[in-house]
Amino acid sequence: MISLPDSAKYVIIGAGVHGLSTAWHLAMQMEAAEPGSGADVVLLDKTYPGAGATGIACGCVRNLYMTEPLHAIVSHSVDVWNYDPVLFGFQQVGYVSCGEENQIPEYEKILASQAAIGYTSDVYEGQEARDFLTNLWPDFRHHSIDVVLHEHLSGYAGTAQTVRGLTEMCERYGVQIYSGVEVTGYDMSGDEVAAVRTNRGVIRGDVVFLCVGAWVPLHWDMLNLPLKLDVTYEDGTTVREKDMWTFWRLDEGEIYYDGPYYTADGRNPPVLHIELMNTPVQDPVTGEMLDDNVYVYWKNGTERMQRPGIQGGAMPHLLGADAVIDPYGHANDEYQAKPEFADYITACMGMFMKRFEGIRANFRERRNGGIGAFTPDNVPIMDWIKPNMFMIADSNHGFKMTGIGKLVAREVLGSEPVPELAPFSLDRYGKGAAFGSGVTNSPWV
Ligand SMILES: Cc1cc2nc3c(=O)[nH]c(=O)nc-3n(C[C@H](O)[C@H](O)[C@H](O)COP(=O)(O)OP(=O)(O)OC[C@H]3O[C@@H](n4cnc5c(N)ncnc54)[C@H](O)[C@@H]3O)c2cc1C
Repeated sequence: MISLPDSAKYVIIGAGVHGLSTAWHLAMQMEAAEPGSGADVVLLDKTYPGAGATGIACGCVRNLYMTEPLHAIVSHSVDVWNYDPVLFGFQQVGYVSCGEENQIPEYEKILASQAAIGYTSDVYEGQEARDFLTNLWPDFRHHSIDVVLHEHLSGYAGTAQTVRGLTEMCERYGVQIYSGVEVTGYDMSGDEVAAVRTNRGVIRGDVVFLCVGAWVPLHWDMLNLPLKLDVTYEDGTTVREKDMWTFWRLDEGEIYYDGPYYTADGRNPPVLHIELMNTPVQDPVTGEMLDDNVYVYWKNGTERMQRPGIQGGAMPHLLGADAVIDPYGHANDEYQAKPEFADYITACMGMFMKRFEGIRANFRERRNGGIGAFTPDNVPIMDWIKPNMFMIADSNHGFKMTGIGKLVAREVLGSEPVPELAPFSLDRYGKGAAFGSGVTNSPWV
């Protein structure tokens, strides 16, 4: 029988990557400063740690963002991964992103912004870009690639290992984790959250953290917050009555490959990401045209594979403001990757690397994919949404954002707001500071 305490200084709802990271960092920073201990932190999950998107992701960590304030957040995240890369399953193999000529100005801007915060990367253009790719992967087929960004500090994490590692850090610092405790509502006192109602009783918290991933629209509703809003961008344009939350389906999958998949010098290759907006996807074996543009990423599959192979993904699919969230992830019949995804990713793999030509038969037929709730500009919101409630809504930037928990703990325990978090406030939509997209089809800008 679960017996919840009546109150705790910090009550965190949701044990995904953000709830776990926040709980661990609160407990660790409190112990270091001695105003309390991990016992002051209660972490609730309606299922168990990693039951949401965190448990099914591909775990890619990269910093290719046109939203420049995200560069510092990813840098903090890499610091968190490197706190104990073995425990978290982090492979710092780097990240290589390929684009066409139209993306060169964006890549140069990204490079300058990353360099300004010490995130070490290189950009190659034209023939240099193509040579760079061939040096890493001798069988690389370049098509219209004209620019490459190579991030040295990025990589990927194993998702189950990450959940185990973050949970262990929480336990090491005395965080009380309660699985099977579902938050069902909030008792308000004025604008403050007076108590959190659960299926196991009521708990009060001095500060409550909302870290519920795809379930955030349900909690937004419980808190009586508006589901539509006007969004004003930096150029002054306003979109009226935009949905506060929009669901997308994310497709990822696995392809067996006994290769092994190494670089020319025998290393685990960087995560590879190719976005070519003017190049169609054509299966190199069947000749079938599958799409009018390329958006794909892959890496060595290190977890949930049972055999050597590749894990990767493609462009997510827009669902709209409504989705059935439970059952979540692989348990939900409606939101699994379709056979078209398997055709697409394996065609892309063969299109860009000769070694993968004809690999469609090796696609691992199993449940893949899940949904996520995205913010109005597809960029995270990390802010106080009530005087005593902090929300981390990552808009599915996920494993690139593990540093948020560290920064949020610093903000809550310190006396000053943390400057890196300021651009991600909720009021940016009303203030003309919503983030806008650049040269990409992707929602992750
Ligand atoms: C298929 C897929 C692939 C992805 N691939 C990548 C990738 O390669 N790289 C990357 O960076 N990101 C990726 N993402 C995104 C990333 O997984 C998410 O952004 C991230 O895991 C979200 O973490 P979270 O802590 O916000 O939420 P979640 O991991 O969803 O955790 C939320 C938790 O809240 C709990 N909860 C919900 N409601 C309640 C309630 N009422 N009471 C108590 N508990 C509750 C849930 O049980 C859940 O455990 C992917 C996402 C999907 C779906």
